[in-house]
Amino acid sequence: MSEFGPIETVSVVIPVFNEEDSLPALLERTQAACAKLTQDYEIILVDDGSSDASATLITAAAEAAGSHVVAILLNRNYGQHSAIMAGFKSANGDLIVTLDADLQNPPEEIPNLVKAAEQGYDVVGTIRMNRQDSLFRKTASKLINLVIRKTTGRVMSDYGCMLRAYRRPIVEAMLSCRERSTFIPILANMFARRVIEVPVQHNERKFGTSKYGLMQLINLMYDLITCLTTTPLRILSIFGSLLAAGGFVLALLLIVLRFLLGAGWGAEGVFMLFSLLFIFIGAQFVGMGLLGEYIGRIYQDVRARPRYFIHKIIGQQRFSNNHKDQA
Ligand code: UDP
Ligand code: MG
Repeated sequence: MSEFGPIETVSVVIPVFNEEDSLPALLERTQAACAKLTQDYEIILVDDGSSDASATLITAAAEAAGSHVVAILLNRNYGQHSAIMAGFKSANGDLIVTLDADLQNPPEEIPNLVKAAEQGYDVVGTIRMNRQDSLFRKTASKLINLVIRKTTGRVMSDYGCMLRAYRRPIVEAMLSCRERSTFIPILANMFARRVIEVPVQHNERKFGTSKYGLMQLINLMYDLITCLTTTPLRILSIFGSLLAAGGFVLALLLIVLRFLLGAGWGAEGVFMLFSLLFIFIGAQFVGMGLLGEYIGRIYQDVRARPRYFIHKIIGQQRFSNNHKDQA
């Protein structure tokens, strides 16, 4: 049993952006899968400013008698992760499951995720067993997953799959972060203590095309990296220091060789100019890196993530205090 208590209710959050073709099957399959749960459930569909009939379809589903569907309509397109956050805000379940609306993530896996979470996990990740995406997407994903694993030290093999489950306190912690661009699976891992990955099926997109073109993918990658770390800003100083040190060593070498081999060697000081150039360019990079250090800290403060996340407090607190909030 999880330290966050038993799971009595499940919320399913699905972002929808121009998915009118897959919505009927999605609704039917998700409802059928959720009906198999022993818990009470709600299905929250967030329309991310679709220009097709998606909004009408999900409104109708929500208005149907006895429906477990909640429709949230955003005024315009904000992007998948923002739409999920909007869904999180209204999700009241003890466990919150996210999945894509394009049926690439089979809704039939929802009960498996709930079962995994019930074993006491805060976040249930997934591994796509037979990923049906383009070779380019798969290779890019592998590379990014590798970088994430190296930076976080967390062994997670697949961050890209949005079919995931989070315990309520984790979702609340994510909602309390004030950053605008975010990558939910990574953010969730920052607050999770026990994480598990379960294998899931993955299907080809049956209707329409991926909403992520090359530019959106690049943007997503930057969201992911900045969500994770400010280290790239530090790379500037490291690169600059190396360049300046290299220039300095070159200058020393030139001076020594000048005395040993005469003025003709070293092209009458041209090489010396190069070494000076390296030193100055290096110094500039160090300066930029220094700015980066400040910017990184400003960024940390601006997004105001909780400074820590209390997983659990054990033992009776003997005195009441006035600063109970996590900050
Ligand atoms: N999506 C969204 N807003 C967007 C782009 C996508 O809500 O701006 C939704 C989309 O409807 C789908 C999910 O996010 O439910 C994943 O999108 P897609 O299948 O296009 O991404 P891919 O599977 O190619 O990563
Ligand atoms: Mg998809």
